[in-house]
Amino acid sequence: MQAGEDVLVVGEAAVDGTPRPISWEMLSAARQLADAAGGGVVALFMGSGIADAARRWGTAGADRLLIADDPRLAGNMPLAAAAVLTQAMADAKPGVVLVPGTTAGRDYAPLAAARIGAGLAADCVAFSVDDGVLSATRPVLGGRAVSRVRFPGDGPAMATVRAGSFAKAEPGVSQPEVETLDPALKADDLRVSLEETTPKGAGGSRLDAAEVVVSGGRGLGKPEQFALVEALAEAFGGAVGATRAVVDAGWRPHYEQIGQTGRTVSPRLYVAVGISGAVQHNVGMQGADAIVAINRDPDAPIFKIASFGIVGDLFEVVPALTAEVRNARG
Ligand SMILES: Cc1cc2nc3c(=O)[nH]c(=O)nc-3n(C[C@H](O)[C@H](O)[C@H](O)COP(=O)(O)OP(=O)(O)OC[C@H]3O[C@@H](n4cnc5c(N)ncnc54)[C@H](O)[C@@H]3O)c2cc1C
Repeated sequence: MQAGEDVLVVGEAAVDGTPRPISWEMLSAARQLADAAGGGVVALFMGSGIADAARRWGTAGADRLLIADDPRLAGNMPLAAAAVLTQAMADAKPGVVLVPGTTAGRDYAPLAAARIGAGLAADCVAFSVDDGVLSATRPVLGGRAVSRVRFPGDGPAMATVRAGSFAKAEPGVSQPEVETLDPALKADDLRVSLEETTPKGAGGSRLDAAEVVVSGGRGLGKPEQFALVEALAEAFGGAVGATRAVVDAGWRPHYEQIGQTGRTVSPRLYVAVGISGAVQHNVGMQGADAIVAINRDPDAPIFKIASFGIVGDLFEVVPALTAEVRNARG
């Protein structure tokens, strides 16, 4: 990365067109890197019917905002998204490109990198610039170790960023130059398009946006006992998550699974109920501001990452906690 080069950062629209929570974190990451390198932040927001949301998002730190608002970009389909990102890169000529490490971002970022022959580091949690060379930190081996990768070559360095790794930027701190990016999509880029979106109740999209997530694990014993988790989540006005053990057992739908092979969430509060704290689960939630663990085993690994630990029987603790939360929230 040369001194003065810009950072191109991508935001991601949820189904309703608003920025996904990670989009605000992306602007923080980009601002930090751009300030370290003496460059600017060029922000790209793409989707269908997203222009107003994009304008507000851009004020959270962008110097220049590219808006690609086109019905063909609905649903963040990878081929079309890769084409728009490549187009934005040709326009902005950035030193670094940051893409959300979401399901969609993990699909289209490598496609765009391959098209222009750029290096890509996936799932990064921190960046630094030393002597003009960008380094990225990324957890490996399911979070048991971290690796540091460097981008010594020319051309843009690309990275996907793990949710929960950076603070959320606030809107209203910058006034970016706003430009429309007309997507130059070819037939090949539209081989996959969104047909329809079917809501799945209080599912995945709610989990992404929730400030409180209450997750349950095998300690609940049987699927009906998840009512305890649901009640606590409802008392907090939060969303329900689950471990893979209970998803694999068919107790809960896969879109609720938190962890390495599920979703990554970064709520203000994460409550782990009857969850042992396997590393594959923890990587999906350790970006939470506070973690409360309820487990009867004092040696459960979850207590190593918990901000507050309650050693006890969840069947006693959770109903009492739910009642307290209801009282406190009126
Ligand atoms: C490649 C790979 C990918 C994986 N991906 C994921 C993933 O994305 N997400 C994920 O969650 N897991 C994932 N796993 C599985 C992971 O390793 C664990 O097996 C799983 O997270 C354990 O789920 P659990 O905590 O619900 O169950 P357990 O490990 O069985 O823990 C149950 C806990 O409940 C406690 N408990 C029992 N009864 C009570 C009670 N009455 N009161 C209080 N506490 C009680 C126990 O002390 C125990 O700690 C993956 C594994 C592999 C190999």
